[in-house]
Amino acid sequence: MLKGMRGQTMVGGLLLAANIFVGCQGSMDSKAAHSPQDTLALETEAKQDTLAKGKLATRLKDSAKQKVDTVGVIKKDSVIRQAKMEQRRIKDSVRRELDKLPKHIYFTFDDGPLRGSAAIDSIAKARNIKINVFLVGKHANMSKGLKRDFQKYYDNPLVECYNHSYTHANNKFTTFYSNPVSAFDDFAKNEQDLKLQHKIIRLPGRNIWIYDDIRRIDLQSGASTADMLYGSGYKIYGWDVEWKIHGLTGKPLQSVTEIYNRLRNYMNNKTSQEPNNVVLLMHDDMFQNKKGQALLSSLIDTIQKSTDYKFEFMRDFPFRY
Ligand SMILES: [Zn+2]
Repeated sequence: MLKGMRGQTMVGGLLLAANIFVGCQGSMDSKAAHSPQDTLALETEAKQDTLAKGKLATRLKDSAKQKVDTVGVIKKDSVIRQAKMEQRRIKDSVRRELDKLPKHIYFTFDDGPLRGSAAIDSIAKARNIKINVFLVGKHANMSKGLKRDFQKYYDNPLVECYNHSYTHANNKFTTFYSNPVSAFDDFAKNEQDLKLQHKIIRLPGRNIWIYDDIRRIDLQSGASTADMLYGSGYKIYGWDVEWKIHGLTGKPLQSVTEIYNRLRNYMNNKTSQEPNNVVLLMHDDMFQNKKGQALLSSLIDTIQKSTDYKFEFMRDFPFRY
């Protein structure tokens, strides 16, 4: 899934493998695979990593990929066990380091402008938080009211407007993505029509990430379009957690507590696309009535009271440590 690979961590993995190999050769006692000096060296290395941007995240990802050269080793099982323990130890130590560093949360709202957009705009202002909206140009042209709501977003410095295609694929995703050239043109039309300032896209109906050294595809249909957009300078962002509320009734499919706990778990376990960065997906039409709006305010309040997460723009994604 993840094609991104960095040279220095491959070297780190090989060094670790060599380290275990030598340790087992040096002593018949498998417990003594690492001398205290080795452990100290690894810990010092982990600390130094925090100073170099992105290294901690890379180590966390690569700790699961490390392979051990077991050719010629008699006690193969103990070597593998030792390697697994070492992987876990590195993972835990990296997690602890990451926990001391800033954490970033991204509220993203898709499909606007729709009924609900004006309320989202007001809540962002009232709570003074940065939010991100992935807009559909066709919706902005459906009525004067929606055009006005789009303009509110556009003029609000706490809101950043990004591209979610002009037609939203008319909700026929496979057909839409079967022609990457016309799909590309649909995004280009949206950018022009809404005068979007940032080359940031979320694909309708797909959770695809392509940026920097990352290429992660959920469904193959959509990949060619995403690659073409990336080739033209766009960044494609998906999401980690989705919150669903029934738009008309305001009845949540996940309560505020449930969604808050999920966000915290992703942040604490470092299981999001980028550790210490969690992207939440919502849709504008979830907040068209007072009940839904109260839930959104309540989630923001809970995060602000209980955590030190910073609300961020997707333009700044990801913060790497
Ligand atoms: Zn959408």
